[in-house]
Amino acid sequence: MVTIRLTNSKTRRKEDFRPIDSSNVRMYVCGPTVYDRAHLGNARPVVVFDVLNRLLRHVYGEGHVTYVRNFTDVDDKINAEALRRQKAGVPGTLEELIHGRTEETIAWYHADMDALGALRPDHEPRATEYIGQMVAMTQGLIASGHAYAVEGHVLFRVRSYKDYGKLSGRSVDDMIAGARVEVAPYKEDPMDFVLWKPSSGEEPGWDSPWGKGRPGWHIECSAMSHELLGESFDIHGGGLDLQFPHHENEIAQSACAHPHGDFAHYWLHNEMLQVEGKKMSKSLGNFFTVRDLLDQGIPGEVIRFVFLMTHYRSPMDWTAEKARQAEATLRKWRAATAEVAASAPLVSVIEALADDLNTAGALAALHVAAGEGDWAGLKASAVLLGLLEPAMGSWSSAPDVDLSAQTQRLIDLRAAAMASKDFSAVDALKAALVTAGVEVRMSKAGIELVPGPDFDPAKLEALQ
Ligand SMILES: [Zn+2]
Repeated sequence: MVTIRLTNSKTRRKEDFRPIDSSNVRMYVCGPTVYDRAHLGNARPVVVFDVLNRLLRHVYGEGHVTYVRNFTDVDDKINAEALRRQKAGVPGTLEELIHGRTEETIAWYHADMDALGALRPDHEPRATEYIGQMVAMTQGLIASGHAYAVEGHVLFRVRSYKDYGKLSGRSVDDMIAGARVEVAPYKEDPMDFVLWKPSSGEEPGWDSPWGKGRPGWHIECSAMSHELLGESFDIHGGGLDLQFPHHENEIAQSACAHPHGDFAHYWLHNEMLQVEGKKMSKSLGNFFTVRDLLDQGIPGEVIRFVFLMTHYRSPMDWTAEKARQAEATLRKWRAATAEVAASAPLVSVIEALADDLNTAGALAALHVAAGEGDWAGLKASAVLLGLLEPAMGSWSSAPDVDLSAQTQRLIDLRAAAMASKDFSAVDALKAALVTAGVEVRMSKAGIELVPGPDFDPAKLEALQ
């Protein structure tokens, strides 16, 4: 069996991956807060952990992996949007409007991530369906002295967990010095974080031993991963921005609530995403969602390919140039493999992926296979990477393009050249068309221009 090696944030080393139970490899990844469309940065962990999910299924068997990714549907931003709609006159109770908002956002999320070729996880728990487990876990933490209730809040006593800060490599005292921690008067210690908080009048809430309220964000993941994967499981993933405080808090809660388990053995974090070398932000005007790109006509498969070009532990830069390159490559590969039956994935691709998910190396191996004409191996390997799948649509089939103007121009130039015996203008236009990926078929009967797999509309436009 292939040995997968993964960089474990917990030990800061690349380690051999040894699952607790190879007949049921278990992975939890922090999912989205469902209050709006997913932006491009939100999609990166989805694609990264989708590749890992596919690799684990390839190595351990389709039925031997359990992949859980949650939906956080308890959130102030969701409530605010529902309240805004109610004030704008949308009918329904606040609860119904909250429910409507999350249903809508989850449907968008599914559509957008499906378009990127991400397989749906085995379980997609919603926080609101696990409130009972969160309350029970919170009660247990109070009973064991790791948490305390005060003024309708329950807070985790950070100093009661000696390993707090190990994952992100910080000491509690450094964190207090460095972070702007909200110091509420009811906290015993500034670092203590919320497990449960009270809901005021119009906010959604659930009955609890501490009054009507709602869970804190961190306890959601601890409760759902425990319910679906147990006290100890294999992999916990998420974006690097979640390492502190979210993952640190998840570890503290789970370790103290289940002292006989060891929570997640391997912690994986993907680096962040930039756009054309800059941090994506609304103020810079370079903020966009996955749907924005899809609506611009960039196929989901192209977005996925661009993501795979960068290793998950390196910052990734989204550029229009990369998207153009990815599209040209995919057009070529799709055309070449259309009639080819896939064989087995290439050893070189499996080895690259098994080496800490080296997706850039896997793509390089596909380029080698293309150079050697091993289309059957390329196709099987691409499918393992979530590329060239029929479900991603037939976007690359003969582009729908009107070449009549160029055809007429070539006919006129040829007629003139016949008379002048100077064919330089004809040759120049032919060369330019070929560069744009257009096949030029000239005969006595006429001229036909056919867009090929390398067809590049931008280059054609430059001709005009
Ligand atoms: Zn989480």
